Amino acid sequence: MARFNANEVENYGGQGGGGFFSLKNDKDVATVRFMYDSINDIEGYAVHEVEIDGKKRYVNCLREYNQPLDDCPLCAAKSRVIAKLFVVLYDVESEEVKVWDRGKTFFSKLSSLCARYNPLVSTPFEIERNGKKGDTKTTYETYALDTDDITLDDLPEVQDVLGTIILDKSYEELEFFLDNGYFEEDVEQQAPPERNPRNDKRGSSRKEPANEAPAGRRRTPAAAPAPAEDKAPTSRPAGRRRTTGTSDKF
Ligand SMILES: [Zn+2]
Repeated sequence: MARFNANEVENYGGQGGGGFFSLKNDKDVATVRFMYDSINDIEGYAVHEVEIDGKKRYVNCLREYNQPLDDCPLCAAKSRVIAKLFVVLYDVESEEVKVWDRGKTFFSKLSSLCARYNPLVSTPFEIERNGKKGDTKTTYETYALDTDDITLDDLPEVQDVLGTIILDKSYEELEFFLDNGYFEEDVEQQAPPERNPRNDKRGSSRKEPANEAPAGRRRTPAAAPAPAEDKAPTSRPAGRRRTTGTSDKF
């Protein structure tokens, strides 16, 4: 059994997608185990998509849905928040842990499976793609195979997607990215000067006087594609709840 260790973490999607699960063509199939016991183990992530060196990367959104937009520099710059599931799979054939990038509506699919197969990991599934390459209406069917007594303990360890597949950046790092189009640490590996953690707290050192319009802090992402709409500088929380139904097919 292929073990997944810290030395191999770079293969795990952190460097641009080596560890992503995909079925490329119509009727392609793969046998996998969803690496969860129950629906409670499955988490969604609110992320932004940015482009770094021509590669699309996900970056963790810094705010909860009920926090103001200015708590996250990317939100303040009107980069769209995307609700994502990064479904952790064990690919039975290649004996590798992979991550399946899905829209949030895949939650209901997994919820249905969890209700029938408990623990979920003990039932392998055949996944079949229905849809030609590039077809946005592509769906995936799951067919349960025989349940056995495999548990999560029998499978390779799962790395946290936050910090690997999803870049986990601070408020200051995101501001630097918006100004420069890259993350500072990607260029310089030297140790940063000692920082006061209090000042690193998001927004704590940059509160502006109440009579100053917060709009002045809005920026346009240097590399992230800005949404075409919502150009008017209204104070409406644009983009917060906007989701695209079409990309959430499963
Ligand atoms: Zn955000």
